Amino acid sequence: MSRKHLIAGNWKMNLTPDDSASLVEEVNAVVGKQNAVQVCVCPPFTSLPLVSEKVEQSEVLLGAQNMHDQPSGAYTGEVSAEMLRSLYVSHVILGHSERRQYFGETNVSINAKILAAIQASLKPIYCIGETLEERDAGKTMEILSSQVREGLQSYPSRALDLLVIAYEPVWAIGTGKTATDEMAQEAHAEIRGVLSEMFGEAASSSIRILYGGSMKPENAAGLLAQPDVDGGLIGGASLSAKSFCDIVEAAISAS
Ligand code: PEP
Repeated sequence: MSRKHLIAGNWKMNLTPDDSASLVEEVNAVVGKQNAVQVCVCPPFTSLPLVSEKVEQSEVLLGAQNMHDQPSGAYTGEVSAEMLRSLYVSHVILGHSERRQYFGETNVSINAKILAAIQASLKPIYCIGETLEERDAGKTMEILSSQVREGLQSYPSRALDLLVIAYEPVWAIGTGKTATDEMAQEAHAEIRGVLSEMFGEAASSSIRILYGGSMKPENAAGLLAQPDVDGGLIGGASLSAKSFCDIVEAAISAS
């Protein structure tokens, strides 16, 4: 089963709307016309309207970094799936380790968001990954398995074409430490095995699993060449058009 690579940039809490517009224009100019791999940028909420206009005539896709699980109501400071859809957002990062660590998100609360996202036809990029303590204690696969099973509880098979998983070892995010190619492949294969138990082998072989955690141009080729690594979720390196586009080029070469 061939899975098109997806390279998604998580800009986190960086860039004003004007800075975001400049960055996406540079990305557009280099990789906005190709469709050998999918490219998605995920700016902060405040930049979504302007970046949405900038990607309208390009192949670059638009993602958000979070959303609320309710469609509307008294949830001060929150944003719904419908609001994202109105700006032509197609993807939404859910369950990022920073949301788990700083905002108390759990597999259960993230599950509610995932189900709300697919209800609105948004593609969830569901982030999972172990901490260093969990890895050192030999618990990596157990943690990944429970994150997949609990986060995807009641996920309907008919919506599996929307689902993207991002394996992001917490100890590799923003630290400069990257999982080796072998460590990434081992974890991705394990995740695909859990998906296979939940949804069947055919379905699991069509779900994309991205790697995230200090991916940069220097290590992207090796990671993206792994059979179960279907792209990358890029934090720091996505804030430079050159680094981000070099990673996209590495994904094109690996395809
Ligand atoms: C991320 O936050 O999703 C991420 C992968 O960050 P970085 O690339 O900076 O490690």
